[in-house]
Amino acid sequence: MPLAEIKSRIAAACEDAGRNPADVNLIAVSKVQPNDRVAAVLDEGHRIFGENKVQEAAGKWPDFRTVYKGVALHLIGPLQTNKVKQAMQLFDAIHTVDRLKLANAIARHAQDLGTCPDLFIQVNTGEEPQKAGILLADVDDFVAQVRALDLPLKGLMCIPPVDEEPSLHFALLAKIAARNDLTGLSMGMSSDFESAIALGATHVRVGSAIFGDRVYG
Ligand SMILES: *Cc1c(COP(=O)(O)O)cnc(C)c1O
Repeated sequence: MPLAEIKSRIAAACEDAGRNPADVNLIAVSKVQPNDRVAAVLDEGHRIFGENKVQEAAGKWPDFRTVYKGVALHLIGPLQTNKVKQAMQLFDAIHTVDRLKLANAIARHAQDLGTCPDLFIQVNTGEEPQKAGILLADVDDFVAQVRALDLPLKGLMCIPPVDEEPSLHFALLAKIAARNDLTGLSMGMSSDFESAIALGATHVRVGSAIFGDRVYG
């Protein structure tokens, strides 16, 4: 599906919700996609991209960035503490802050680097044992802990369980964000970004609908 079509669907969802399309960031999730598909989207002028692995992003984005200026890169996958520094040098936003040890490591490197990516706390809204993210009962405390570290906390992120109605999770995430005075909401993927926008998403993470199916080699 062409990028333009995704953008017009976002615009329509914003119109339905009485929202300004400028308040919804489209993160084109380029993980695993071949470079020619990514370059085609860059050639169309898009500049916000998402990757879920530090190593994979480090392998392709420095080269793209020498050719295409103004790229903003968002980390949407799990981050190990030993890769924090590299991630902070590569990414403009990290959507997967999910434990205090990680927040502490980010704070330490922010001191050294003098800069820090925008941060989102990943919330395990479905309380799934295999999934990353802060549990619902712990979110408010964790938000306070991250704020106490003086980090640029922008909002919350969730990945709903595959077998549940995503809107319920989007609404829940929005409610938790509101009571914590957080405006950023990273939610919605290829199959559900319109309902995420209806419920307040500020960052939708869309991969296969833009680039086509991911082919794992
Ligand atoms: C891969 C991925 C996406 C994009 O998924 P699509 O279904 O291809 O749009 C969004 N968010 C996260 C966290 C992902 O890992």
